Amino acid sequence: MDFRIGHGYDIHRLVAGRPLVLGGVKFDTDYGLEGHSDADCATHAVCDALLGAAGLPDIGHFFPNTDPAYRNIDSQVLLARVCAELRQRGLEPSNLDVSIIAEKPRISSRLAEMKAALARSTGLPADRIGLKATTNEGVGELGRGAAIAAHAVALIRRA
Ligand code: MG
Repeated sequence: MDFRIGHGYDIHRLVAGRPLVLGGVKFDTDYGLEGHSDADCATHAVCDALLGAAGLPDIGHFFPNTDPAYRNIDSQVLLARVCAELRQRGLEPSNLDVSIIAEKPRISSRLAEMKAALARSTGLPADRIGLKATTNEGVGELGRGAAIAAHAVALIRRA
């Protein structure tokens, strides 16, 4: 058995007038995450966990935020490309576990949709994707709602 584990972390600021996309799901809010792509920090954390498990450089190396090609890009496209990079190296995802830290909006009712989106992009069955949302209990900048952060771990294996 050739299993490898990786960890990813990402955080993006919440600002007015940007669409909010988390785990590939769009929220009906008048604020969103600031960033070059769609700024989906949950999906970026998953990308970095998968890349880290494969011993590859991070998402910024593959999709630089200075490249206009990635402006406002759907991060599910990036995640699918990350999985393609793995497959080119004879590797594939085995399972994922993701934690989103958000004071707002309430996202627990959208977790199933996010799982479905991540499943589509990775080719994993939804029951191999763990996804949780928590608040920061009002502590610090995350607790003030200044940003949304996400942690992810990924297990990958030889395809
Ligand atoms: Mg990011």
